[in-house]
Amino acid sequence: EAKKNGGGQTVFFIEDLKEALTEKARLERDLRRALENDELFLHFQPQVSVTGGGITGFEALVRWKHPDYGVIPPNTFIPIAEETGLIISMGEEILRKACQQFTDWKDEGYRPGCLSVNISTVQFRHPQFMDMIKQTLATHSVAPSELILEMTESVVQEVEEAFPVLQQLHQLGVRVALDDFGKGYSSLNYLKSLPLDILKIDKSFIQAIHLGTREKAIIETVMNLGTKLEMQIIAEGVERPEQLEYLIQSPSLTYQGFYFSAPLPPEKVPTILTDPI
Ligand code: C2E
Ligand code: MG
Ligand code: MG
Ligand code: MG
Repeated sequence: EAKKNGGGQTVFFIEDLKEALTEKARLERDLRRALENDELFLHFQPQVSVTGGGITGFEALVRWKHPDYGVIPPNTFIPIAEETGLIISMGEEILRKACQQFTDWKDEGYRPGCLSVNISTVQFRHPQFMDMIKQTLATHSVAPSELILEMTESVVQEVEEAFPVLQQLHQLGVRVALDDFGKGYSSLNYLKSLPLDILKIDKSFIQAIHLGTREKAIIETVMNLGTKLEMQIIAEGVERPEQLEYLIQSPSLTYQGFYFSAPLPPEKVPTILTDPI
């Protein structure tokens, strides 16, 4: 490679690599500090029925307010938190914050529906995962039936290992949603073997609706499958009225997306809920 590209380019590449590594090391150090300094905060995106437009719940989505770089999106720092194991304490903090906010809304007389929280693979595989969930629920007035844990297919990939934990969640009454369904190497095996409650169809499918019959055939097949397996179905990434118009054909469907609302700072949430009783 070095010969083919010439020395100059190779040196340039190494410099880039060094810079990337320094950048990562810096983010890792900053992320540790972020936890101590409470720099993480949550936005909440409403989940809405396709028919009435009634809000059924909210998904908590983490953000990091970095003192120098401003707000950093989760896709930038969650992978680093996973690699370093920081995700364990971070995930616990996220669940705690989400439950606290949810309890506050209920105390103010609002009915926010269900609370969805994303769980990463590293968290799910941690031996104390179930204890952490139970403890956090117990210290807040959130019922297990109000909590939904969202996991991608990578989380439940190891079906044999995932099964007992999912079974315990099921017994506790906490629901599990399979996030980004169809995005990765989807396997029907997960759906067949695991106690999963909700299927979230990945936004790439929703955003391909206008393309034509093949894309629609895939969405419809996924929806049929989910329905037959008695799973609730959520469409992710609904941005345009045509997409919603198409989805309304399945009246039991729920959706999330910029068309109804982007993820909101918590203080904005009461403005879209009906008045406290
Ligand atoms: P996700 O769980 O699939 O969350 C949905 C993402 O789609 C969010 O991005 C949301 O802002 C975005 N979104 C919502 N509506 C639309 C739309 O209409 N169009 C488009 N293009 N995007 C839309 P966000 O907040 O940047 O989060 C990205 C991912 O980061 C999440 O994907 C999730 O995998 C992960 N994540 C977020 N918060 C957490 C967390 O607290 N813990 C863990 N472990 N992961 C998290
Ligand atoms: Mg999610
Ligand atoms: Mg998703
Ligand atoms: Mg995702």
